[in-house]
Amino acid sequence: MSFLEKHQRNVDLTAFDGKIPVHYRYTLGLAGDKFFTAIKKDGKFVGTHCEECDVIYSPPSVYCERCFASLEDSWVELPSTGTVVAFTVVTEDDQGKELDCPQVIAAIQLDGADNTFVHRICDCCIEDLAIGAHVQAVFKPKKERKGTLDDIEYFEIAAE
Ligand SMILES: [Zn+2]
Repeated sequence: MSFLEKHQRNVDLTAFDGKIPVHYRYTLGLAGDKFFTAIKKDGKFVGTHCEECDVIYSPPSVYCERCFASLEDSWVELPSTGTVVAFTVVTEDDQGKELDCPQVIAAIQLDGADNTFVHRICDCCIEDLAIGAHVQAVFKPKKERKGTLDDIEYFEIAAE
């Protein structure tokens, strides 16, 4: 199989296991810092609002992707609920080994936001999960939060 052909299964590829030491520092930026600080300290989501386009970004952006207006002073608070826009059930790891427990990964649009982000869905929710499902974030206990997306344990089907 040539490199340019579409690969249907990851086991068809030739792979070499090894390690490459890579050191990096990822900075959150202004918007990311405020987003993750709100999650860590308050267990809340924040976003930025472009009044011109009437668009809310969460995760936030310091500029509007549509009109390029600065949004540095346009912060809004959002609920911890949202809608599943897309999802997949992962049953194998990257080596093709079956996982002990399937994992559900979803694109979630917070209520009021116009963009999405990717996070885990509680595996106990697989049978009730569908596109359009209303979900809510389950945050880790405050003392365990570190200011990352992992401060959100997962999303689960929202209690209506
Ligand atoms: Zn705009």
